[in-house]
Amino acid sequence: MVDAALQALLDAPSAWQGSVPGGRGAGPLPAHSDMVVVGGGIGGLSAALHALRRGCSVTVLEAGELGAGASGRNSGFVVPVPARHGPDTLNALLGDAAGPYVRALQQAARQALSRGGPQVVRQGWLQPFAQPPLGSLRHLARQWQALGIDAECVEGQRLGALAGTRYYPEALLFKSGGGVDPFALLHQLADAVIALGGCIVEQCSALNTTVRGQGVTVHTPQGDIRAGRVLLAANAYGTGASQATRRPIGRIALGLGTFSCEDLPPETACLPFSDARKDMWFCRRLTGNRLMTGAFILPGAGGTAAAAGLMSRRLQALFGPGPWSPGQLWAGYVGVTRTGMPVVRQHGPRIIRWSGCNGRGIALSSLMAQRLVDHLMGEPMPTLPQATFNSALLVRWLAHSVIQRDRRRQKKAAMAQPSSFSREIIS
Ligand SMILES: Cc1cc2nc3c(=O)[nH]c(=O)nc-3n(C[C@H](O)[C@H](O)[C@H](O)COP(=O)(O)OP(=O)(O)OC[C@H]3O[C@@H](n4cnc5c(N)ncnc54)[C@H](O)[C@@H]3O)c2cc1C
Repeated sequence: MVDAALQALLDAPSAWQGSVPGGRGAGPLPAHSDMVVVGGGIGGLSAALHALRRGCSVTVLEAGELGAGASGRNSGFVVPVPARHGPDTLNALLGDAAGPYVRALQQAARQALSRGGPQVVRQGWLQPFAQPPLGSLRHLARQWQALGIDAECVEGQRLGALAGTRYYPEALLFKSGGGVDPFALLHQLADAVIALGGCIVEQCSALNTTVRGQGVTVHTPQGDIRAGRVLLAANAYGTGASQATRRPIGRIALGLGTFSCEDLPPETACLPFSDARKDMWFCRRLTGNRLMTGAFILPGAGGTAAAAGLMSRRLQALFGPGPWSPGQLWAGYVGVTRTGMPVVRQHGPRIIRWSGCNGRGIALSSLMAQRLVDHLMGEPMPTLPQATFNSALLVRWLAHSVIQRDRRRQKKAAMAQPSSFSREIIS
């Protein structure tokens, strides 16, 4: 059960939605396609584009409007490294596959940034550290470089100029990252799909699938479509035929908000940044004097009002007292897994599904889309890091506990060092 206040945020339009006109998915449902993709997010459309480039006919089914899921509601940070992992844990988890995996992610991040669009930031993404890691940050940067990632250590005045805050002593700068308007990116992908002859049908939910003979029938309220192959790319929003994308992942609500301040210095958050805590603090600059930030919305922690308060107090801690006037507030679902890796499942040779981008899906969903389409078209199953199946409830409970513990630690640290940042600011 979702409480009414959270539901209102999940239904509220994001700052991006409406940034470009819609109407790309008005086509009638074809009777047949080589490939049917369920889900019109960045992942589904990237898959469609890749399949079209490989010569398939493609139909994308979207239950709502394009961008109704996380792709139209996210922060637009293009991050070239996986969520919740540093080089050590990646090497331990993936061994020799760690390097190829992160290099492929970095390439996908560069592709997303090359699409451009409004509000694109190509100079990098910052990962600041409130408490620098035990070894030095330079060592961490070298470890990323050894895996082929373009990371460097920044500190002092340079960091202040890039992030616009003196809050953090040190940060890693990933030059292949940045920021996009995710809704605009999504629509660019949709235009490319249509230009190559693909078909997008909005307001058309895949209800279920039947495997028969040499193909799959996808049943929708608008009739049936026969497909050679089906990719379920419905992320944490899966319903009907794609409910299975939701089952193995914990859905965590992440609230986002825009805040404006009259005299915002031009250097404030000129690069998007997300810090290295579990309960990450993140921020990016939008057009005008607006900043965007966010916070996880935890049950029993004061709900949405508390999340909004937390966001503005974080801005105060990072950039000063303001005053910060709240603008838009909305939320979306992030799909998390225990190991931070995605879940892929194959249902016979013709249907495949994946989910679990752990809040870093812009680069990852396009990488997964390409690899899984290749596999559906007969190439060997790619070596993709995968999470083992865990109950969604268990994973959600674990994630909530970790975030709560991190918030308690922050509070304790604030009380121990009242001079560095005030205890009210953390609350
Ligand atoms: C608040 C928030 C902030 C985030 N910030 C970032 C960020 O800064 N950087 C980053 O890299 N990632 C971020 N993410 C994650 C990122 O948004 C997602 O990983 C990415 O958008 C997933 O794309 P997708 O195409 O897989 O899924 P989605 O965009 O969620 O699309 C799934 C679509 O499937 C449709 N669907 C579901 N069931 C059916 C059905 N049966 N038939 C037809 N259609 C169906 C839904 O309507 C939905 O539109 C964030 C996520 C959230 C929620």
